[in-house]
Amino acid sequence: MKRELAEAAKDLAAYIRTLDENLAELPRGAKAGGQGPVLSVKPSASPVKPEQALPPAAKERPLDMNSLAEEVKNCRKCGLGYARLNAVFGVGDQKAKVVFVGEGPGFQEDHQGEPFVGRSGQLLDKILETVLGLKRSDVYIANIVKCHPMKNPETPEAHGNDRPPTTEEMSACRPYLEEQLRFIKPACIVTLGSVPTKVLLNIDKGISLVRGHWYDYPVELFGPSNPIKVLPTYHPAALLRNPNLKRDTWEDMKMLKSFLETGKIS
Ligand code: URA
Ligand code: SF4
Repeated sequence: MKRELAEAAKDLAAYIRTLDENLAELPRGAKAGGQGPVLSVKPSASPVKPEQALPPAAKERPLDMNSLAEEVKNCRKCGLGYARLNAVFGVGDQKAKVVFVGEGPGFQEDHQGEPFVGRSGQLLDKILETVLGLKRSDVYIANIVKCHPMKNPETPEAHGNDRPPTTEEMSACRPYLEEQLRFIKPACIVTLGSVPTKVLLNIDKGISLVRGHWYDYPVELFGPSNPIKVLPTYHPAALLRNPNLKRDTWEDMKMLKSFLETGKIS
């Protein structure tokens, strides 16, 4: 027991050291991502049926992820579609057991067309590697909205132009995430920060209260007896602002590791 504790303390210290190492320099003002608006979503007592939760997205369901990605690339269902440089669909293993969900692309993501490639993305990569022993290609990473929310949509090249997505933008885009989940069929979702947590769980509690606990995804994508498990944790950008949160995130990722290894919630 003592030995196990000593091992865990050593692992934690190594994880903190790795996360503290310098991140690559990025253009100034690039979005670290972060906690978005506080949404007032009413707690849901009962599971939400897909048809209740989802606006009629595609009348004809896409055949596969590629056609879905193509649809997103051409989408103009909300205003974000007119200003984005690139739609940021998602990346990773299309058969992943776990899908990480952030709020929306920032400056770097808009330029590269890939989620979580800015500073918070680099930190996410380190967390995946050190705690889970996984690369980004072993998991799936996506966002609630696929296009970059900007304060001034006329200047996509400007730095410091990021803003959180609005409720309307999230509702317009949400069906795409749902389709992605249908194709991937993950065992669990990790929500990064308060925005995706509130939206996907239909709750209105702060991230510090809900992180580190398992929930059932309220949308029954695979029937009532096969809920996708949801584990909220802090957004990596929150760790950049407040290094004290690194430890809690480590605990959360240990919970995820155990679930991925055993299929059971400990
Ligand atoms: N923050 C997010 O929520 N998503 C990204 O893709 C990048 C930063
Ligand atoms: Fe379409 Fe989503 Fe982009 Fe809005 S954010 S235009 S709904 S892909």
